[in-house]
Amino acid sequence: MEPTFSSLLARMQELRDLQGIIGLATWDQETYLPAKADDARAHQLSTLQGLHHERLVDPWLGEALAWAAGRTDLEADQRAMVRVLTQERDRAVRVPQALVKALAEAQSRALVAWRQARKEKRFALFQPALARILALRREQADAYGHKGERYDSLLEGYEPGMRVARLTPVLTALRDALIPMVATLTAAPRQLPDLFQGRHFDGEAQWRFTLRLLEAVGFDLEAGRQDRSIHPFTGGTHPLDVRLTTRIDEANPLNALFSTIHEAGHGLYEQGFAEAHYRTPLAAAPSMGLHESQSRLWENVVGRSDAFWEHFYPALREAFPQALAGVERGAFHAAVNRVSPSLIRTEADEVTYNLHIVLRYELELLLIHDELPLEELPAAWNERMQRYLGVTPSDDTQGVLQDIHWAWGEFGYFPTYSLGNLYSASLYRAAERALPDLSGHIRRGELLPLRDWLRTHVHSQGYRLPAEDLVHQVTGRGLTDVDFLEYLRSKYGALYGVSL
Ligand SMILES: [Zn+2]
Repeated sequence: MEPTFSSLLARMQELRDLQGIIGLATWDQETYLPAKADDARAHQLSTLQGLHHERLVDPWLGEALAWAAGRTDLEADQRAMVRVLTQERDRAVRVPQALVKALAEAQSRALVAWRQARKEKRFALFQPALARILALRREQADAYGHKGERYDSLLEGYEPGMRVARLTPVLTALRDALIPMVATLTAAPRQLPDLFQGRHFDGEAQWRFTLRLLEAVGFDLEAGRQDRSIHPFTGGTHPLDVRLTTRIDEANPLNALFSTIHEAGHGLYEQGFAEAHYRTPLAAAPSMGLHESQSRLWENVVGRSDAFWEHFYPALREAFPQALAGVERGAFHAAVNRVSPSLIRTEADEVTYNLHIVLRYELELLLIHDELPLEELPAAWNERMQRYLGVTPSDDTQGVLQDIHWAWGEFGYFPTYSLGNLYSASLYRAAERALPDLSGHIRRGELLPLRDWLRTHVHSQGYRLPAEDLVHQVTGRGLTDVDFLEYLRSKYGALYGVSL
């Protein structure tokens, strides 16, 4: 069939529809799937993913994309669609089917081994499976192709366009600024309270409050929904069908509150794609880091600010009159910003969080370069924990075995969390310049001006530009740790009464 742009567009739409259905089946797997259907769903998903892969690597699509790349009469968005899909297809084509299969098998084995190793608190039980995953990921990195830096081609899968040469200096400078900052805060005479020990927060009241938050940030519940899952996430099938999950813990309301705000940030991004981009490769964030910037902007920069709770705290107290009896807003705000070096990344505060990421990034580089024998990995982990955060895991479940990412083979993913934090601070700074009364709006609970600004400048842009170029377009500069560090210094300096 002779290609035309409309036949190419029809294929793009078909690929997105398949992804949407995969999204639906995955969301269902994490929320409502009956336990006995686990295996059946795994087969269904693998069949769907196989179909998607087949349609993507189809030689006709390769020819159509090459034809389109040579046209001079396409509009800018059409050219961007062709560029994005070509990148995706090129990567898919380069990896032989045998390697794809071997990786999938190694992943399932590694997951089983990782769970067993956690149970017995022994990294050694996970080590052979991890060695296999690493060998295959190195092979895959070489199959994708790179200019001498293997890690680049893994990073490309999550953060297209980002390179080790660009990332390492920024993360190293961030690390070197954070270590003394954490030390100063931990030694400060004023320490912030941990309020939530021994209190009970009704689950239904928490659920109602999270819905109220979704409404306040402008998440459209007629184009999405919220459910519960063990690990909160954002999924869905289409910008008009965005599915968030949250987690209710009756002993600590912060899980639900901040999971909801976090996932709402992701959800607003998905709902904000331009209608003209629906069912095309442009209805997507250009990177995981930029997606994460939206969740962290709402969760941390907005959701943990004093201005935000000035408006929402009275309602929160009304929802939990007993549990929050005697807790004033200032104490609550201090408690949600308590800095405390800890072992577990997912429980880390804003200041210590990125040190957990830098540690993983440095170890991943060594592992992908084959410069660290695996039996030395737990010790290398513990030594860095001590050096960066002053704490040492008592066993491997508190250390090297804590995250599932490596069992999934997801090397290159962790840095996107830090990119999210750095981009969130820079984007918020730009929003403050553009919206002079932004903090006033937030104090009054008016969150739509910020949402709309993000929608115009970030969400509706979709995948027109690579992440760092888009950030540059919005903020006037690309990746930097300057805005994030300034944000931490000013916020935590004031909270702890120290100069940082
Ligand atoms: Zn997230």
